[in-house]
Amino acid sequence: VQPDPLESVRPQTPVKPMTATEVKVNLSIPEAADRAAATGADGVGLLRIEHMVLSLGKTPEQYIEDHGEDAYISELVEGIRTVAEEFYPRPVRARTLDAPTDEFRELKGGENEPHEHNPMLGYRGIRRSLDNPEPFRCELKAFSRLFEMGYDNVELMVPLVNDAEDIERTKHLIEEVGIDPEKARWGVMIETPASALLIEEIAATGVGFVSFGTNDLTQYTLAVDRNNEHVAERFDELHPSVLKLIGSTIETCRELGVDTSICGQAASKPAMVKFLVEQGINSISANIDAVRDVQHEVKRVEQKLLLDSVR
Ligand code: PEP
Ligand code: MG
Repeated sequence: VQPDPLESVRPQTPVKPMTATEVKVNLSIPEAADRAAATGADGVGLLRIEHMVLSLGKTPEQYIEDHGEDAYISELVEGIRTVAEEFYPRPVRARTLDAPTDEFRELKGGENEPHEHNPMLGYRGIRRSLDNPEPFRCELKAFSRLFEMGYDNVELMVPLVNDAEDIERTKHLIEEVGIDPEKARWGVMIETPASALLIEEIAATGVGFVSFGTNDLTQYTLAVDRNNEHVAERFDELHPSVLKLIGSTIETCRELGVDTSICGQAASKPAMVKFLVEQGINSISANIDAVRDVQHEVKRVEQKLLLDSVR
């Protein structure tokens, strides 16, 4: 292979279009942080910690029993830190654990998981975290440790909340581990119709941001299992009912000064991007491979809105 004579002058990060709407990236594997950062994304809109936890080969409860709380906290700190370091000072929104029980079954300790007819409607996300606070406290302590280490670009996001009570109970635990919810940047996912319908009460808890999890929001709004191939054709993130929930939530959040974003798969669909930018969403987070296209689509829609406004 011939050496590239222009290598030293080629931009390392692709030149990204400037947009008012931030375009971020979703990430599950800390090892991909450099690739994610190279997209020129404005930050990480969703860092899932499920992979970090599942790759330990044990359920969180089992891991803590075998190795102690501190070892579990350190694993989480290391995973999130890798991403926070790569992106600093761009924000990294890490989400507390949200794995359905069937994903834990094969791991050591998985035999203790409850058997559920509908794991997606069951013991996952904030429900499990509040019901079983020991592992959840470790997750929160990992955030606390990262803040102490100076990673002020880390944001804490909570999945699958239904109402203000879920959030108040979470806030209580956040305070218990020594995080000041007035200072730290934290927020929740809007991925159940209940949470979208109760957005005013949710905003009143003091959340700094909300993020639409359209994979779940679509499945719960349309009662279409996101993993069931027999109803896959009915899984429509652009269904008017889903858009109505998203649109009204953005409108209320704009009035109340709460930041809005999306981190579901639908964020990479041009029709969704157009809808969201027109509604005035603050940021859009897409998978690594989709970030470039989303950046350009956001730019196109913003320019069109600007031209329309001066016509
Ligand atoms: C979602 O529900 O859209 C989401 C981003 O969360 P997950 O896919 O991890 O459930
Ligand atoms: Mg979800």
